[in-house]
Amino acid sequence: MKRKLKIVNADVFADGQLKKASIVVNDGIIEEILEGDRFEPFDGEILDCTGKIVLPGSIDTHVHIREPGSEERETFLTGTMAAANGGVTTVLEHPISVPPPYNSEILENRINIAKPQMVVDCGFYGALGTESIGNVKDMKEHGIVSFKTFLQEPMKGREREFKGLTISDDYNLLKAMEEAHKYDMMMAFHAENDDIIKGITKELTDSGRVDTKAHYESRPIVAEIECIIKLLVLAKAADTRILICHITTSEAMKILKTAKEQGIKVIVETCPQYIFTSEEECIDLGPMAKCNPPIRKKDDVDKIWDYINDGTVDIIGSDHGPYIIEEKMPGYDNIFKAPAGFPGLETRVPLMLDAVNKGKMTLAKMVELICENPAKIFKLDHKKGFIKPGLDADFMIVDMTKSYTIDKNKMYTKGRDVAELFNERKVQGYIEKVILRGNTVMEDGVVKDSMAGYGQLIKPYQ
Ligand SMILES: [Zn+2]
Repeated sequence: MKRKLKIVNADVFADGQLKKASIVVNDGIIEEILEGDRFEPFDGEILDCTGKIVLPGSIDTHVHIREPGSEERETFLTGTMAAANGGVTTVLEHPISVPPPYNSEILENRINIAKPQMVVDCGFYGALGTESIGNVKDMKEHGIVSFKTFLQEPMKGREREFKGLTISDDYNLLKAMEEAHKYDMMMAFHAENDDIIKGITKELTDSGRVDTKAHYESRPIVAEIECIIKLLVLAKAADTRILICHITTSEAMKILKTAKEQGIKVIVETCPQYIFTSEEECIDLGPMAKCNPPIRKKDDVDKIWDYINDGTVDIIGSDHGPYIIEEKMPGYDNIFKAPAGFPGLETRVPLMLDAVNKGKMTLAKMVELICENPAKIFKLDHKKGFIKPGLDADFMIVDMTKSYTIDKNKMYTKGRDVAELFNERKVQGYIEKVILRGNTVMEDGVVKDSMAGYGQLIKPYQ
C-alpha cells in the first residue's frame, strides 16, 4: 500500500464549495489541502485530476447485504465491491441477517464474517426488538451506528430474518425508545402501519387481485403517515433521536418538516427509487420495481424535491436490497409472491450526479445528503464525509461532463439480474475513480477482489 499521494489540478469540494486545490495524503489520512495551482516537488505518487472534480467518498446509510443467511443474494465481498463501484466508501449495513444482530455475540460474529471480505469500510446497525430491549447498552458499547426496528410481527416465512428486530406493540415501542434515549442511541424505523396493509391486502387477494397494481394499492399513503405520526409522538415523549427510513410521500414530508420545527429529534431519509422514477413509469417492470413502501405516483415524486431542497430531507440512502431472479419471477403471476427490494448501491450516486447536472439540486446539496449529513448524523465525522485535514482520504474522482448508460451487466452486486429499475438510463456525471484511505478501490468500473479485507470496521465516536 502506498504511503504518500498528492492529487493535483482538481476542483476539490472542501468547505462547502469547489475550489482549485491539491490534496496531500499521508498514510491514508488527508494531511493538507493546498489551494490554488502551486507546484512543489513531491516524493510520492502524483494523481493528475485535470478537468475532474474531487468529492468526499459517499456514505450509504441504508444497505442490506444480509450475510450470514442469504449469501446467494449478496456477500460482504460482492456488496462492498458494488459499493466501491458506486462511489460509496462507507456502507452502513442494516441488521437483516440470520439471525439479526440483536445481541453483541451475534454482532461480533457478523463483523468477523464481514471483515476479511470488506473492500470498503462498514459500520453496522443493531437490531432492536421486544426481546432485546435489555441489550441497548451492550450493543452501544460494541460500536453500532444506530438501532433498526420494524413495527410488525415477523413476515411469514421470514421469521428467522426478523427475530429480535420487531416491536409490534406500542408499550414496548415506548420502552425501547426510553432505553435508547438513556444511552443516547438513535433508533431507525421502517414506517408503515401493518394493520392497514394486512387488511387491504386481504381484501385485494380475496377479490382475486394479485396484479402489480394491487401491491401499490395495498400500501396506501395513509399507512406511512399514520405510522410516522405515532413515531413522532412517542419519540417526543421519550426524547429519543429517531431516523425514519425511506419516506415516500410529500404529505409525510410536510408533517416531518413541522415536527423538526417543533424540536422533535427526527432524521429524514428518502431513496433514489422515490425521487427518480414513479409508479406510472415503472409499473410495467412488475416485481422488479416492487419495494416497500412502494414507489409513488409522479405528482408526489415531484413534490418530494421541494423537501430535498428545503432541508427537510437529511439523507439519501439506497435501501440496497438484492435478490436473485428466481425469487422475483413468481411476482409476474402474483405480485404478492415476490420479495420487496432491488439493488441500489451502484446507481444511487450516479443518479444524484445526473440530478446535479440537470439542475434539480446543487452539488453542495448532493454532498450534504450523501456525505456530510450521514457522517454527522451517525457520528462518523471524525473520519468521514468531508475533505479536510485529519480525516480519512476517501474520494470520488468525477467527470461531470461525461454521459453514459447504466448497465446492470456491469454491476458487482449478485442482484444484478433484478436491477431493472434504472437499467439503461442515460446519466451525466461519471465516477472515474474511488479512493479509500489513499488507495484506489475502483477505477473506470473495475473493482478488484484482491482488495477484500482492505475495508475497515467503522464505529461512531461516543
Ligand atoms: Zn431497508
